[in-house]
Amino acid sequence: MTAVGIDLGSTHCAVAVLDRDARPRILTTAHGATTMPSMVGLVAAGGRVRAVVGEAARALQRAEPDAVVFGIKRLLGRRADDADVRRWSAGLPFEVVAAGNGDAWVRVRGVELSPAVLAALLLAELRACAERFLGEVVDEAVIAVPARFDAAQRQAVKDAAALAGMTVRRLISEPTAAALGHGAHDRVARRYAVCDLGGGTFDVAVCDVGGGLLEVLAAAGDPLLGGDDVDEVVAEQLAAAARARHGDDVRRRPAAWAQVIAEARRVKHALSDAATAEAALPDAATGAAGGWRTVRRDELALWAAPVLRRLEAPCHQALARAALAADAIDEVLAVGGMTRMPAVRRKLGQILGREPVVVDNPDEVVAIGAAIEVARLDGRVGGVLLVDVTARGLALGVEGGRCDVIIPAGCVVPTREHRLLATTTDDQATLAFTLYHGDSDEPARNQPLATYEVSALPAAPAGDALVLVEVTVDVDGTTRVSASELVSGARPPLRVVGQCGLAPAALAELARTVAEWRAT
Ligand code: AMP
Repeated sequence: MTAVGIDLGSTHCAVAVLDRDARPRILTTAHGATTMPSMVGLVAAGGRVRAVVGEAARALQRAEPDAVVFGIKRLLGRRADDADVRRWSAGLPFEVVAAGNGDAWVRVRGVELSPAVLAALLLAELRACAERFLGEVVDEAVIAVPARFDAAQRQAVKDAAALAGMTVRRLISEPTAAALGHGAHDRVARRYAVCDLGGGTFDVAVCDVGGGLLEVLAAAGDPLLGGDDVDEVVAEQLAAAARARHGDDVRRRPAAWAQVIAEARRVKHALSDAATAEAALPDAATGAAGGWRTVRRDELALWAAPVLRRLEAPCHQALARAALAADAIDEVLAVGGMTRMPAVRRKLGQILGREPVVVDNPDEVVAIGAAIEVARLDGRVGGVLLVDVTARGLALGVEGGRCDVIIPAGCVVPTREHRLLATTTDDQATLAFTLYHGDSDEPARNQPLATYEVSALPAAPAGDALVLVEVTVDVDGTTRVSASELVSGARPPLRVVGQCGLAPAALAELARTVAEWRAT
């Protein structure tokens, strides 16, 4: 059994393995890059569907924008009616739809797909990449997920891994992985603020390393803040410059607009290394180059300022949740591709009161850290124990009643809690309860995870039949529920009535689909 470390990013993925000396090593994809775009495209070929991923999907996107899905991670384990999902999905070239159970799925080329299937296609490619390199079967992974991911999102990642033929040895939170990848476990005791600004998300976590523990004290983030927002403001400036010259608005043509966004991104990258860059302006009619405009680094910083201001709230929130002032942080660690942009580093430095340390390989460090976790689980590196906390609370509710928060947010995992539920009518044979995500006693303010029904309860007066419900949060933040009937001590049948995520019974069939779409 060989395990790999995976960074399943919103814009890019990466995979790392351990060499014989347990040293982590980032792998290159079939395209020779160390990261792979998190994009999946569907191609109809001879009446069958074929999936293309990574660079091939990016190439397909240029020709057929509506055949390619990106931002898959933003939809994993989310509900279609979630405010973030609704905001993000407006104006996408593919459709976000509600599955039968309310989960956010996508419709692409007329096919409705769970984001877990799309993520599985990405993971299967990373797995193939590792197998090519190692020359052996890879069937296990440590996968990094944002610290703020709730149980449903974590379960969706585990389902995706299962569909790609891998068992998750552990889900590790991204800031922990970044700290490990940075070598924090080998150094002196320190308190870190790990700031991860990628293409689509910003996460900040306060971590404590010391006494043999690596502990996430608090995490916060903005799931809708990233490099894409900077690309957008730069593209708007380029389009405005073109409009001033040609008088037409390129924004109205999606294919042309996609090219302007790509040019904006190229200019943004160039300005991380140079003080000026030449930007090709879109031609009014075709979207092709229609003149040039020199962009200065300070102009880029000015355009991006409103976007970068949004880094402030999550940083302050993470500090507040950890009950720490900025000066209690020993080191600010900047990870994620966007921290290559000087204005981002400056802004983080301003907010957190010290110059961030930029890791050498900001878009590889998370996968490297995940591979180090593989080594740690194998006992090949010692020294630290990882301590993670629940991102959101878990509450239990019965129909018509209030919610009872049984496991609060910020609780160290693994953890287990139980509650006694009593029947409310004579000879009541079934009892239903719902497990929610959230920290409120009002059901409407929480998010239902699953509804369970306990049946075959013994005949008894109201209140005399008691069901003990046990909720476990595993070390990787996923949940398990069990129930027993207290009078007889029996385990009555427990049925899941409504559940988010994929039904376990559907996994085998979907795994075949993933394999087929890759093969054809
Ligand atoms: P990640 O999700 O961590 O891979 O980060 C991807 C984001 O980093 C995208 O918005 C990229 O445009 C951005 N990025 C990558 N390289 C650079 C660079 N050299 N300068 C500025 N931004 C970059």
